[in-house]
Amino acid sequence: MSVLKILKYPDPRLNEESLDVEEFGEDLKALAADMAETMISAPGVGLAAPQGGKLLRLIVVDRSDLEDEDREPEPMVLVNPEIVRAEGSQIFKEGCLSVDDFQSEVTRYMEIEVEAQDLDGNLFTVEAEGRMAVILQHEIDHLDGVLFLEHVSPLKRSMYTTSLLKRRNKDAKS
Ligand SMILES: [Zn+2]
Repeated sequence: MSVLKILKYPDPRLNEESLDVEEFGEDLKALAADMAETMISAPGVGLAAPQGGKLLRLIVVDRSDLEDEDREPEPMVLVNPEIVRAEGSQIFKEGCLSVDDFQSEVTRYMEIEVEAQDLDGNLFTVEAEGRMAVILQHEIDHLDGVLFLEHVSPLKRSMYTTSLLKRRNKDAKS
């Protein structure tokens, strides 16, 4: 297993749409294991394959109890995940391993049902609400090339991108 290099905004690959996974072999298992390791070492609670530079519909989320300080991460892999039911709404403060130094409140569905395949291609369903529903929606967005910044108000987003550019210019000079 190895830790993948996480692409950072504004890398254009983060805006591309990922392809369906069609081959369920050793390569897919190895990629999922690398993604789990990358998520845990970041540390983060979710990671989508395009963040590791692989444009495939594959995500890993941590399904352990995130409120528990002594928790051990429990990575869950979802291949070709799709939201098949969504209800309600909630506002949650989000961040992203591909977007440095920025967090913002985002409105998402409160409860969702996701259909996905496991690493052997078997279909399964996950029901989630609250924070886990947020994480799943955030990661599935990545597969469509959508960053959480796109759910943030244009003013907040432009303030962030301006400060990012300023910092970059400063780094380039020093
Ligand atoms: Zn993200």
